[in-house]
Amino acid sequence: SRLKIQELSSWNSSDGTKIKKINDKRVKAAFVSLTRNVDLVGIRKTIRQIEDRFNRNYNYPYIFLNDKPFTDEFKKGVQVMTKANVTFGLVEGEAWSYPSYIDKQKAAETRKKAKYRYGKSESYRFMCRFQSGYFYRHPLLDGLEYYWRIEPDVEYFCDMDYDPFKYMKENKLVYGWNMAPMEFMATIPTLWDSVLKFMDKYPQHIEPENFIKYVSGNGKKYNGCHFWSNFEIAELSFYRSKKYEDFFNFLDREGGFFYERWGDAPVHTIAAAMFLKKEQVHYFGDVGYYHPKMGFCPANSDKIGECICDHRSKFQINKQCVRRWKLIS
Ligand code: GDP
Ligand code: MN
Repeated sequence: SRLKIQELSSWNSSDGTKIKKINDKRVKAAFVSLTRNVDLVGIRKTIRQIEDRFNRNYNYPYIFLNDKPFTDEFKKGVQVMTKANVTFGLVEGEAWSYPSYIDKQKAAETRKKAKYRYGKSESYRFMCRFQSGYFYRHPLLDGLEYYWRIEPDVEYFCDMDYDPFKYMKENKLVYGWNMAPMEFMATIPTLWDSVLKFMDKYPQHIEPENFIKYVSGNGKKYNGCHFWSNFEIAELSFYRSKKYEDFFNFLDREGGFFYERWGDAPVHTIAAAMFLKKEQVHYFGDVGYYHPKMGFCPANSDKIGECICDHRSKFQINKQCVRRWKLIS
């Protein structure tokens, strides 16, 4: 893109003033990661790559959130990985607990019976609910316009020679993704029914030029396509909107975060499909990325800046939902 070339040309010198000029034009943005103390090594690996591939030139800050206080070991352990500002926040109260209307007994029975991945985990459900409806309200994110979600143990295979936050802002993009797999339907048996009820109740919230057909060809059934939210670059006003608030509250009341195992990825994706135009959503198909156990290596990775991946690898994501994205108009 044009933006890329402009930025690349200003990188031709290692002159610090040029770097400063770019920093001054930074967007109000940060990396945000919910992590546990035991994730220290994994998140150090991630930060290392984010720094090497992108952030050493930009110094966007990092925000770490946890439902338990971070240990000093964790704090020091991440701080030494970057010269950017790092802050640590606690997640508490309603952001990490059962709403009063949830039947904990029923939730426990669900967990006992569940046969799918993380089915027996209570904390995983709190995590998905937090990532669906709370992360953007944490005070450490106040004043931020965009965020980039990072997770432990991920890899960034290629150099990123432009600022994706700026790219999003300049192109009026609201939501950015990199991989789109299929959801395990056992984790969300009634999610789509709840979505249909929501759309019935709040027709005024639906964007006339929505892209609901991406997630449901006939409107009756969810096809499972979802943007994998462990990589996500988004404008926070999307989540902070009245529409999204109504959507999250509606889903929360439906109970599926606890009685099933609704993931934040399908929730974010379906929200985007209802509330945004397709042109407000960006596929970062130039970003080589890996999250255990699935990855994406750009087809031209041998030609673009120093990627360390092979697009013929076994981990390469099944492209069905990516193809679908390109096919829908
Ligand atoms: P997966 O990506 O779906 O396999 O799940 P992860 O185990 O990677 O969890 C997603 C993100 O939430 C990661 O950044 C984890 O570190 C974080 N996470 C998961 N469970 C918890 C939890 O109980 N507490 C905290 N603080 N973070 C969690
Ligand atoms: Mn993960």
